[in-house]
Amino acid sequence: MNNIRVRFAPSPTGHLHLGGARTALFNWLFARHVGGKFILRIEDTDVARSSEASAKEIIDAMKFLGLNWDEGPEVGGDYGPYYQFERKDIYAKFIDKLLCEEKAYFCFCKAEELQARREEAQKKGVPFVYDRRCLALSKEKKDELRKNGQTPAIRFKIPSGETSFIDLIRGEIKFKNEDLDDFVILKSNDQIPTYNFAVVIDDITMKITHVLRGDDHISNTPRQILLYHALNAALPQFGHLPMILGSDHTRLSKRHGATAVDEYAEKGYLPDALINFLARLGWSFDEKQEIFSREELIEKFSLERIGKNAAVFNTEKLIWLNGEYIKNAPLPERTKLVIPFLQKAGLLAKNEDRTEFLQKIVEIVGDRLKLLGDIVPYTDFFFKDRIEYSEDILKVLEKSKNGLTIIPDTKDALLQLEPFNLETIEKTIRDISEKHNVKPKETIQALRIILTGKTVTPGLFETIFLLGKDITRKRIEAFSSAFPNQKTIDIQLHND
Ligand code: GLU
Repeated sequence: MNNIRVRFAPSPTGHLHLGGARTALFNWLFARHVGGKFILRIEDTDVARSSEASAKEIIDAMKFLGLNWDEGPEVGGDYGPYYQFERKDIYAKFIDKLLCEEKAYFCFCKAEELQARREEAQKKGVPFVYDRRCLALSKEKKDELRKNGQTPAIRFKIPSGETSFIDLIRGEIKFKNEDLDDFVILKSNDQIPTYNFAVVIDDITMKITHVLRGDDHISNTPRQILLYHALNAALPQFGHLPMILGSDHTRLSKRHGATAVDEYAEKGYLPDALINFLARLGWSFDEKQEIFSREELIEKFSLERIGKNAAVFNTEKLIWLNGEYIKNAPLPERTKLVIPFLQKAGLLAKNEDRTEFLQKIVEIVGDRLKLLGDIVPYTDFFFKDRIEYSEDILKVLEKSKNGLTIIPDTKDALLQLEPFNLETIEKTIRDISEKHNVKPKETIQALRIILTGKTVTPGLFETIFLLGKDITRKRIEAFSSAFPNQKTIDIQLHND
């Protein structure tokens, strides 16, 4: 055990996105690697954009990914509360201290006035820096403004000079203080602290030692460092993670497809595959190794191996990784994982216990699943009484004309089979094809389409075995009574 403490501090203004999940993961891996603490803190001071629902979604996504936290919502801890909104009293004390020491001051400038000045600066092509006009206000003037009903904001007085820090990933980063204006630490309208202030107070009071976050926060860091100095607090170490780009090398966004963790969960990505994938976005062990178990990641993770360059999100790689994780899951586990997807597709009732049958189905699907949701198109015909044949599929079937001619004989032979097993099913289909001089491939394709309505399915012999004699017979008979007179066919079987 040591005193290393890191945090993931999402703003609950939407879903947990992949970028946020990667930040959470790197913090988590670092904490687990060094035996430190990983803290989850919800930064909900932006009242207009934050919601409880989003906080819950983020928490659920963290649980789905298996990124457990040592302190934070639900688990508590010695440095709470872990929702910023509940920490207002803590912030107030620090604001008072800064005001008393004249390191912060009241600002009565109205939003519209500030906006006008901002626009003016823009017209002149110069950056807008607050001109400190409220710093010089006399006590009388301030009292008068208050009496007139004006509530001031509070600004932090940026000292002159330069601020630099050694970023754990990028090395030295320097800023001129004159470029950082006296930023607002407490807003006038709702008297709630701003992000840059609250984050520093939280990181100080929660004893955070390392701040690892996205590089979109680099420009905030000097402002935050100046606050640490003003409060005589020890600085944590800062590390800014490279951004994630889409395949076209622009910042990853909705345009590139799903970006929220819960969307990936819904599609049937496994948490371990996502973790493995996210870990490799900006971190590498030896350039070669792609598959890492969670334990291995914890063991091998180090900040030194995080790259400076942006990481490119490669969907094909994620799908491939997911397929590997599904393939390597033991059969009972794989079966358990696909059940919710069958239930969601309405193929399986919630309380239906068909574990043995399901396990057999999952077994014959073999290595084909790339996403857990793939189970539905591969196997829905096992669960349905109704099979629909599109015009296109019937056209494909016509290509197996020769196979079609021997379907009635094949059906009869299959029904008489005793024992009815994989070996005898295969032998029968091959023997009958040979007897009629038909390529077995054609018979197999014709049977596959008739029994399933599809061209891509698990192995046909296994499929026939699992459907059983009765359904095999019914489907062939129902289909034959409609074919070839209809453009599309829709058969509905009933138990009789
Ligand atoms: N709430 C901030 C965000 O979601 C956290 C930034 C930080 O880690 O300091 O971007």
